[in-house]
Amino acid sequence: MARYIGPVCRLCRREGEKLFLKGERCHKGVCAIAKKKGAVAPGMHGQSRKKLSEYGMQLREKQRAKRIYGVLETQFHNYFEAADRVPGVTGENLLRLLETRLDNVVYRLGYGRSRIEARQVVRHNLLRVNGKNVNIPSYQVKVGDVIEIKPRAKSEQRFKDILEVTSSKVVPEWLAAEHSALKGTVLSLPVRGQIEVPVHETLIVELYSK
Ligand code: SF4
Repeated sequence: MARYIGPVCRLCRREGEKLFLKGERCHKGVCAIAKKKGAVAPGMHGQSRKKLSEYGMQLREKQRAKRIYGVLETQFHNYFEAADRVPGVTGENLLRLLETRLDNVVYRLGYGRSRIEARQVVRHNLLRVNGKNVNIPSYQVKVGDVIEIKPRAKSEQRFKDILEVTSSKVVPEWLAAEHSALKGTVLSLPVRGQIEVPVHETLIVELYSK
């Protein structure tokens, strides 16, 4: 019987691939997207996906990155402009800015099973950065920042449930997680090789450079 899985799955169907927007749950047989290549987007049933133009591919890549990190158009464009202003490779700078958002860092540390859940943890005032309350998902972490679940929330069942799923996940080497204390530290800013996302950032740079 067909069942409603949720709007984020629609985003994967739109891209025609799994974006793992529900985090670990996406590995457990609830995926709404066809495994085979060529899955069709909503409203396109019965039509084959057209071969994308160069512009189409660049656009799709930007959409994929936005959906993975849960960022809207204007904010994404602002990230690109910020990435372009600083020295270094613009595409890598862009991914670094997205990767060092607080909600993503909480996800990478394992205090959310998906970026969506990690964002809720931030929004629900459940954590501190360097001892201060921070509830802004887009907050940019810096080297040396200490992210910690608030003491009153540490004993909540929700974090036991989360850690049951995430504790075996590898935490990227630019972060140090202390799961027993529900805490983490930013050791360095990530380089491209440490950012595991299926995004070809050069296509995004090409798109914005037109
Ligand atoms: Fe839904 Fe996850 Fe499958 Fe995407 S990968 S369609 S979010 S279950």
